[in-house]
Amino acid sequence: MELQVNHVITWMEKSNEKIQTNKDFLSALDRAIGDGDHGINMARGFNEVVTKIKATDYSTVSDVLKDVSMTLLSKVGGASGPLYGTAFLKMSTSLKGREKIDYSLFVNAVSEALNGIKMRGKASTGEKTLVDVWEPIVEQLQKDSDFEAVTIETTAKNAMEATKAIEAKKGRAAYLGERSVGHLDPGSVSSYYIFSALSDVIKEGV
Ligand code: ADP
Ligand code: MG
Repeated sequence: MELQVNHVITWMEKSNEKIQTNKDFLSALDRAIGDGDHGINMARGFNEVVTKIKATDYSTVSDVLKDVSMTLLSKVGGASGPLYGTAFLKMSTSLKGREKIDYSLFVNAVSEALNGIKMRGKASTGEKTLVDVWEPIVEQLQKDSDFEAVTIETTAKNAMEATKAIEAKKGRAAYLGERSVGHLDPGSVSSYYIFSALSDVIKEGV
């Protein structure tokens, strides 16, 4: 099994569909513990991503991911734009020049993305941020030996749901302290959509 240019494009299209469908939900989550713009930010960014990558011819997976990154960096405001932008940039760099990627290259790329998020956001596990989904995903990917649609979906979903019990230590939600407990982290929910979309692509056949 290998991920090719068309798979990555479909991955982004499916991510965009889930984000557009849940735009209001993401903003409502952010309204509870932040400033209420996460759905708008992500919907605008991923819409632009899909417009850009559908209008471009690519010969490498890394070039697709680079355009995803640049678009998110320039179109998504807030904390999440630079964080997701960095994640996809790190993936692109680690896959530079590759037309297709096998499982071990993919795991390495997602692991680099996680390192990029942690560095950029100065966040670690358990602080109610994107890291709380990306870290368990990387750990699960490292345990598996091939693309597993069901484990990716389940791991991301469980990790996203677990953010409800966490007290925020980073980002706007940290201002609420203990009052952030009992609410899902909006960025972890959008990350869940991205990994759920990846799971759908794998189900259709990589
Ligand atoms: P903003 O908080 O600037 O309004 P968004 O609403 O678009 O930006 O994104 C908020 C999400 O960004 C949070 O739910 C959280 O998951 C993520 N986030 C915020 N700060 C950090 C950080 N320092 N490290 C990792 N993720 C973060
Ligand atoms: Mg916000």
